[in-house]
Amino acid sequence: MTIAQKTFGQPKASPEVLLDTLFRPMGVDGVYGRTGRYEGVVEALAALISRHREPQAEILRFPPVVSRALIEKSGYLKSFPHLLGCVCSLSGSEREIGAAVDRFAAGQEWTDALSTGDLVLAPAACYPIYPMAAAAGPVPADGLMFDVASDCFRREPSRDIDRFQSFRMREYVFIGAPAQVQAFRERWMTRATGIADALGLSYRVETASDPFFGRGGVLVGKAQVQQELKFELVVPVRSAEQPTACMSFNYHRDHFGLTWNMRNSAGEPAHTGCVAFGMDRLAVALFATHGVEVAQWPASVRAVLQL
Ligand code: ATP
Ligand code: ZN
Ligand code: MG
Repeated sequence: MTIAQKTFGQPKASPEVLLDTLFRPMGVDGVYGRTGRYEGVVEALAALISRHREPQAEILRFPPVVSRALIEKSGYLKSFPHLLGCVCSLSGSEREIGAAVDRFAAGQEWTDALSTGDLVLAPAACYPIYPMAAAAGPVPADGLMFDVASDCFRREPSRDIDRFQSFRMREYVFIGAPAQVQAFRERWMTRATGIADALGLSYRVETASDPFFGRGGVLVGKAQVQQELKFELVVPVRSAEQPTACMSFNYHRDHFGLTWNMRNSAGEPAHTGCVAFGMDRLAVALFATHGVEVAQWPASVRAVLQL
């Protein structure tokens, strides 16, 4: 279901041109060095999103790794096991580590000596905030709001210009009563279309589903669409026919409230929601829409980005 739309055109710059001008290959699909031209726009976008922050939001920045136990408890393995990256390392005695290195030096397989540790790569920016909020005691009547960000990893190697394995995510998160979360999400959907308008992007806002794992996941995804738990703001980046999700507006209901025993003073489980900005996708969308010469972007777009 589409709930908002702004003239849906074809992108101006091709994926090949975008790749050449904005990125440097690093030998792995979906992993790139980023040029100054590109980073300047990512920073300007981050500042623009900050200017829209509601005053009560508490700011937290997370590293690109999170505790494996946290991700396990969050239900990530049930929903997205295919996307998770785990940090493994050579552990053991000096003799065992030395033997693995010797095998590598002799041109043999050494990676079977790796063992999984207590860290995984962050798959989204908001996961760590829920146990932190839960530990702070009952959720206050006005709810809690956070501004979070992290580098994220998802094991979805691709040569597409809009799908990276390593990318940056910024999120505003709300924790509170169901009506508060829904109002937060609606506010942000309106604000986000305003931001997209100011950035001169064509877009649609539509119901969406997460890429749940396996055959059972198809049903979960359908239910998610039916219950309107996820909306995406999509922009033509590769093509108008297959537009790219640059922001998402998610309502988790009481999933994290129950998982982390996060409750209000009456003991009812908190509901949660988040609005996520794909910083890399938004930046690529701007270059795709307006071309690779920032100096030639519409004056109104440069003004709103203070570029
Ligand atoms: P998609 O359906 O395109 O895979 P998603 O539903 O997995 O997107 P979310 O889980 O909602 O996306 O993530 C929040 C935001 O992070 C997305 O709206 C998008 O802008 C960004 N994002 C997600 N996956 C990637 C990726 N592989 N590369 C770059 N940005 C991404
Ligand atoms: Zn989130
Ligand atoms: Mg995805």
